Amino acid sequence: MTLTPSLLLHRVLHTLLPMDCISCKEALFDNAIPYICPSCWKTICVLPEPKCPRCHIPFSSSSTLTHSPQHLCGRCRQRPPAYTKACTPYAYQGVLKDAISQFKYHGKVRLAQPLAQLMASAWDLPRDLDGIMAVPLHPTRLREREYNQSLLLAERLSQHLGMPVMWNVLVRTQHTVPQTTLKRSARLKNLRKSFAVTHPDVVSGKKILLVDDVFTTGTTINECAKTLRKAGAEAVYVETLARMI
Ligand SMILES: [Zn+2]
Ligand SMILES: [Zn+2]
Repeated sequence: MTLTPSLLLHRVLHTLLPMDCISCKEALFDNAIPYICPSCWKTICVLPEPKCPRCHIPFSSSSTLTHSPQHLCGRCRQRPPAYTKACTPYAYQGVLKDAISQFKYHGKVRLAQPLAQLMASAWDLPRDLDGIMAVPLHPTRLREREYNQSLLLAERLSQHLGMPVMWNVLVRTQHTVPQTTLKRSARLKNLRKSFAVTHPDVVSGKKILLVDDVFTTGTTINECAKTLRKAGAEAVYVETLARMI
């Protein structure tokens, strides 16, 4: 390989500031996406259709929606969610899981832009929504983590979609234990009255997009949607970057 001046510069920079792809550990040079190499980034693909028209969970049979396009999954039929429709385009696995972990827990906030771009490119919800808000963190958790990853995504997404961010309207009133460690009944109890709307006049009669990083069981998102609906929101739509499958 010929050592051109720019390649030499990259080598020197890499020696001074070593940076490897967070997923495959290959050395990174001048990447458009920070922290992740192009071949890893290309592996992030939208989950295949068909999906539940309400909660977006992928159906195992490819023909589920052929004759009844509005067919809901068992869970949505049993307990209809408080939100109108969710869009959860990518699987929480592989490169995207690595990226979310670095973005959320290791301060790699420069990933907000490309991750929000992924969300915008998979947009499958109405365009005429009144505003965007993020699933809030409790102030104690916010102090520990220093930023709310979902709010960073919501901010970037608002630029892509041209919808305003609704700040500090939905708040977390209780410091709950992480939902993933609990069974369903305990999750619901854990979350009951955990959220509140500070300014009901802001949400009243509005169509709102609620943003989160990962759709896990949907309990937290649903609790937020319920709180917003109770405060008078006309409809709540949900977009999360990834989905646990
Ligand atoms: Zn890589
Ligand atoms: Zn469903």
